[in-house]
Amino acid sequence: MPLTTRSETEIFERRESVVRSYCRGFDAVLSTGRGSVVRDTSGREYLDFLAGAGALNYGHNDPDLKAALLDYVAGDGIAHGLDLFTEAKGAFLESFSELVLEPRGMDHLVQFTGPTGTNAVEAALKLARKVTGRTNVIAFTNGFHGVSAGALAATGNSTNRVGPVIPLPGVSRLPFDGYHANLDTAELLAAMLADPSSGIDAPAAILLETVQGEGGLNVASPAWLRRVAELAREHGALLIVDDIQAGCGRTGTFFSFEPAGIVPDLVVLSKSLSGFGLPMSVLLVRPQWDQWQPGQHNGTFRGNGHAFVTARATLLKFWSDDTFTDAVARRSALVSRLLTDLAGQVPGARLKGRGMMQGIDVGPRLSAEVTRGCARNGLIIESAGPRDEVIKVFAPLTTPDGQLEQGLRILADTTLAAAGGSGSAVPG
Ligand SMILES: *Cc1c(COP(=O)(O)O)cnc(C)c1O
Repeated sequence: MPLTTRSETEIFERRESVVRSYCRGFDAVLSTGRGSVVRDTSGREYLDFLAGAGALNYGHNDPDLKAALLDYVAGDGIAHGLDLFTEAKGAFLESFSELVLEPRGMDHLVQFTGPTGTNAVEAALKLARKVTGRTNVIAFTNGFHGVSAGALAATGNSTNRVGPVIPLPGVSRLPFDGYHANLDTAELLAAMLADPSSGIDAPAAILLETVQGEGGLNVASPAWLRRVAELAREHGALLIVDDIQAGCGRTGTFFSFEPAGIVPDLVVLSKSLSGFGLPMSVLLVRPQWDQWQPGQHNGTFRGNGHAFVTARATLLKFWSDDTFTDAVARRSALVSRLLTDLAGQVPGARLKGRGMMQGIDVGPRLSAEVTRGCARNGLIIESAGPRDEVIKVFAPLTTPDGQLEQGLRILADTTLAAAGGSGSAVPG
């Protein structure tokens, strides 16, 4: 059942490519947003637990970020600067060094790439291949790294990979942590890398997400991450953590790999880096690997002044002490508790993820019914996983507890109604 009148969506149906996707599950025409709430053209409000797939970790139009941006625009601040030095970029680099890198003992340099996450992944792969002189990259089952050819080769999902009608070479895919019960996949990787007859060429890089976002909220354990990091070092491969979705606080720490205590050679950040939904991506590079020639990975839109301003304001507001991380930890515990309650009432349901990156696997059929039902009930929520079987609770990290509970209640009621209505044996 459409949420919007036909006349309002007619222009999209008539003029927009059929490649459009999220709007197929949620077809309201959105006009404004504040915090975790968005409003459509008819004035109806929805809780936004999709949050731009992780690009809106701080919600819509945070007042302090907005004020910083409005000031900058009003003062004729540089909006676009290629990679010329700008005041806004310098200020971002100062704050990023002081509030993110230095406190974590990270000596990484910051490479500004094109504005999409995909472009930063391309830069990482290209750099790893350049510095090692090798072509092969190890990527994992259910990984998602973007949709341009190099990054796409590393993406697991076959629906995404159907795009180019060219081969996507240069990647060996191995099972992620937990892919198979009773299989230590880090030890499998160790054995294959050590075996000259395994058919796996010496890798330039090992590329991974610590929590797979699109792949269904699969979590790599700290021990697995440490072992893979050690294998990368042993075999002369660069460890690339794609922290585009799991980073910027989504799992509870700024970088998702912090609890594992690993130091990746390269780190990719994008989605919530600007804090405001503005496009901005970076590749963090340990100094010894910064072996580019000037201009070797360039791009027009590497100097988004507006994104630099909101990114800096985000760091100052949320990352200058522990207040925000404490709040995220508390909200994560609330999500865990309410999802555990729900999972207990749906036969076969399984909890996935960690931090504010959790969800519930209810199977593909129920999941589709639930996300559609939630939209009708005032909650935007999406699914992930190979068969879209995991309902993904991606509330902004700033969502007040009351709205978090309200959204999770809509999710629970909708799920229990759908599970009951479709004949599953739901107790009680
Ligand atoms: C979203 C995402 C990408 C791709 O970023 P785009 O900005 O869509 O190109 C890559 N890796 C991960 C883990 C992502 O979540």
